[in-house]
Amino acid sequence: MSSIRILSDRVANQIAAGEVIERPAAVVKELVENSLDAGATRIEVEFRTGGRAYIRVEDNGAGMDRDDAQLALERHATSKIAEAADLDRLHTFGFRGEALPSIASVSRFELQTRVAGAEAGTEVLVNGGRLVHVRDCGRPVGTRVVVAQLFNSVPARRKFLKSDATESAHIIHCVRLYALACPQAAFTLIEDERTIFRSPECSTTAERVAEIFGRQIAESLLPVEFAEAGLSLWGLVGRPGIGRATRHEMITFVNHRPVDSRTLSYALIESYHDAVPKGRYPLAFLFLDLDPAAVDVNVHPAKREVRFRNEVQVRALVIRAVLRCLRESGAVAMGGPPEGAAGALAAQPTAIPAVPESRIAAPFPAFRPVGPREPPGAPGVPVAATAPVTAPASPPAGAGGSLAGWRYLGLAHGTYALFETEAGLVLLDRRAAHERVWYERLREQFASGRVGIQRLLFPVPVELDAIAAALLLDRLEFLGGHGFEIVEFGRHFFRVEGVPEWMEPADAEPFLRDLLGALREGRLAAQDLDLARDELARLAAARAIRMPADGGEAELRALAGRLFACRQPLTSPAGRPTCIELSHGELARRFQR
Ligand code: ADP
Ligand code: MG
Repeated sequence: MSSIRILSDRVANQIAAGEVIERPAAVVKELVENSLDAGATRIEVEFRTGGRAYIRVEDNGAGMDRDDAQLALERHATSKIAEAADLDRLHTFGFRGEALPSIASVSRFELQTRVAGAEAGTEVLVNGGRLVHVRDCGRPVGTRVVVAQLFNSVPARRKFLKSDATESAHIIHCVRLYALACPQAAFTLIEDERTIFRSPECSTTAERVAEIFGRQIAESLLPVEFAEAGLSLWGLVGRPGIGRATRHEMITFVNHRPVDSRTLSYALIESYHDAVPKGRYPLAFLFLDLDPAAVDVNVHPAKREVRFRNEVQVRALVIRAVLRCLRESGAVAMGGPPEGAAGALAAQPTAIPAVPESRIAAPFPAFRPVGPREPPGAPGVPVAATAPVTAPASPPAGAGGSLAGWRYLGLAHGTYALFETEAGLVLLDRRAAHERVWYERLREQFASGRVGIQRLLFPVPVELDAIAAALLLDRLEFLGGHGFEIVEFGRHFFRVEGVPEWMEPADAEPFLRDLLGALREGRLAAQDLDLARDELARLAAARAIRMPADGGEAELRALAGRLFACRQPLTSPAGRPTCIELSHGELARRFQR
């Protein structure tokens, strides 16, 4: 047993760095926050090889004098708060005084800075936490930080970094978030000498969204604005009908800080209950402003999560504001189709019923952590009291043959086909059955390599964010071999040129977005071809179905026949039961005969 000793600052910083600086994007985040806190109106970010080799953040903010420049690298040195109570008045991104010393302890860190009125600037160089020099330098007012050889001294951490493309995507996403948070500052982002975006000062968030996320997305959004009891909510949300397979495009800010907030995301999902299909997520760039004392930002090392003092109030506000916005848009959109390509993708405006107060006041749903491989269906969405799914253990009696003994009785609710059989009654879920049939058909096609492609007369352009683009690029070849011809034609721009024969061309883009959702969650991984095909077939089956509105006897009999010829007829590819059998015995028991 060794005796207790206090860690040296250098070791303490390296340990803290593990929490605050998990990857290159975290360095960028901390430096950009510092620039914004220093009042910069122009920020330039440059990086190379996913940020591993080189990150530069340069601003025209207030700068630091020589004493401050040295002090800034000490642990817990901050100019932003003096006591804990100041957290309740916080108007800056930073306050812990941890970032600079942490970064400097795991990299080669060069700081150049000058305040207005000073004759010269100051340069501080630190390598792996050891001070190399402090000297004068020439530079304009403002600050420039260069972080090189990140994690060179911490091989364990380097090992956890993903590919350059992934790390770079995280950096790009991060800079976009801050550019959205502060449209009044000009941002430039450069990767490996290529400019990824250069956005001048923008007067509105909508302009910023168009600048950096593209017009396609900007045109599919509606403005929201709502204030009540000291809370103010504003921003942009997707038009009804536009949904995404993941939450990645639900972007939320609290007092201009980009955050992940369950309260906000659930309130959003809830608001879109009737406006996007179940299991899909709305698009949103949503800002909540409130008294800093009403929110705790000090719950997560990277401050990504926040906690509200009054969760119920925040939730109610979001739901009310978004629903009002959607309802009003419904009325507007009814007048004529929305303009632009994105508008064409929006489904017919859904009538949005008023939300009952009871739903707003309902208890906060329990959180289901988002696992790497979520059960299909409605990932992460709170499910109200669902009974565990129980598929029948064996096919209904008589299903094996020609269904000769089955008498078709009718279709209930457009969904359930009812058959009388020798053994009792069988209820067939039409959608689940179709999905199963399509899924097995596609699985077979994929395995045999015989996937017919239809070339699209009008290729569908799709603009993606950096992360999605990187993921898609990785899997283009796989998709090409399975009926989807997608080509890159510009940075983060793709064109769907061909889809499998059975797919409606109009489904190409929504399907691609679903696919990206799956990719982000690590499904369709390259390592296991079989699993990836499985996933692709599952996603595609949901799109392949075309159900006649009033399936008559012939259709439903044929469907039942095809279903029971499947290898696993009893469940849909998502694991739902396809049929329920009520035996004579069960019926007699229920009726107490
Ligand atoms: P925090 O932001 O939590 O205060 P940091 O370690 O990020 O801690 O920064 C320490 C201090 O260095 C800040 O409080 C600020 O005074 C100063 N500083 C850091 N970056 C800049 C910058 N770009 N311009 C001016 N001052 C800066
Ligand atoms: Mg900081």
